[in-house]
Amino acid sequence: MRGLSSSEHEAVERAGSEQMLEQVLAWAAVNSGSRNLAGLERMAELLADAFAALPGALRLEDPQPVEAVNSDGKSVKIKHGRHLHLSVRPTAPVQLLLTGHMDTVFGADHSFQQARWLENGVLNGPGVADMKGGLAVMLAALKAVERSPGADRLGYEIVINSDEEVGSLGSASLLSQSAMGKRAALTYEPAALPDGTLAGARPGSGNFAIVIRGRSAHAGRNPEDGRNALLAAADLALRLDRLKREGLSVNPSRIEGGSPSNVVPDLAILRVNLRPRTPQIEELAKREIDEAVAAVASGRDVEIEVSGGFARPPKPLTPEAEELFKLVKQAGADLGQEIGWQPSGGVCDGNNIAACGVPVVDTMGVRGGKIHSAEEYLITESLAERASLSALTILRLMREAA
Ligand SMILES: [Zn+2]
Repeated sequence: MRGLSSSEHEAVERAGSEQMLEQVLAWAAVNSGSRNLAGLERMAELLADAFAALPGALRLEDPQPVEAVNSDGKSVKIKHGRHLHLSVRPTAPVQLLLTGHMDTVFGADHSFQQARWLENGVLNGPGVADMKGGLAVMLAALKAVERSPGADRLGYEIVINSDEEVGSLGSASLLSQSAMGKRAALTYEPAALPDGTLAGARPGSGNFAIVIRGRSAHAGRNPEDGRNALLAAADLALRLDRLKREGLSVNPSRIEGGSPSNVVPDLAILRVNLRPRTPQIEELAKREIDEAVAAVASGRDVEIEVSGGFARPPKPLTPEAEELFKLVKQAGADLGQEIGWQPSGGVCDGNNIAACGVPVVDTMGVRGGKIHSAEEYLITESLAERASLSALTILRLMREAA
């Protein structure tokens, strides 16, 4: 470890020697699928206990109300778990945001529930990389920083939400409030590659549920009186598909609705995901969706209601973000870790934080891979490695105010 001050050296050592693996094993044993409210509550309590090791005011916050369109085209309320929020020294000169999520993509009924060793140092388990390992890394780094001289110059907020894997609709406002006025943000998604490479630019993502109401009629007696909602949905899906271009992907993913064969169907729900690479493309896509909807509504004499939207704004690599990446890279170099970054096609809370104008590195978590599958794994030596990297990054951000 070259170029470290003695206090940096001590903090890095402390961060790396925290008992992270035990935490990951205990947390991975609790199913916290985004829809498992009881499991999420248990997980929130475990995290609240663990994060109580940090100073500040810790609260479990109720989620924002969220609605979704069901397969009958009706708006229904979706329940989410509570989010952990911790605020530490809100008047200190350097203010950071640290975020993670407690939910996983594996529901209570999924077959993947238990951690097991694939080989020495490689742990397979639900959420071990995405991101219970990352949560342990975040906590270890902050504990180490708290014991460093000058920690009183650092203030921070932590948000650990319960709904990241389903789009963070119930935590978006908590995230953006907590991002306000922050010098930088660190989010503990696993590294983009097993070698530790970070995710740089990310596209945005929008999910839409488009409800189309036509008019039913007898398929033989008076089909001309009908307005076929299914055909309108198919027409709209094809029009939206034609919006695809460099910097915009479009995926019509489902059409629900229909009727018996002797009835003209009067209801269809089209679901579609769009991923724009820049805010400009997002704006253009919004206008083009409106135009396509208007054309189908008038051309086929149906009513169309669009719900949903671009809940994850695009995250281009701004100059401010690039500075933060360079700071992490230098910290890595001083620890003997080579840290690079590359664009990613995925989205996460880093998108929402970046949209608040706060530079963010959102893959500060562990090294591992095959996330969102039953082969998800964590390379356990990366716990200490990434905790040291985070501690040093935070210390250097803190010293900017010295
Ligand atoms: Zn994740």
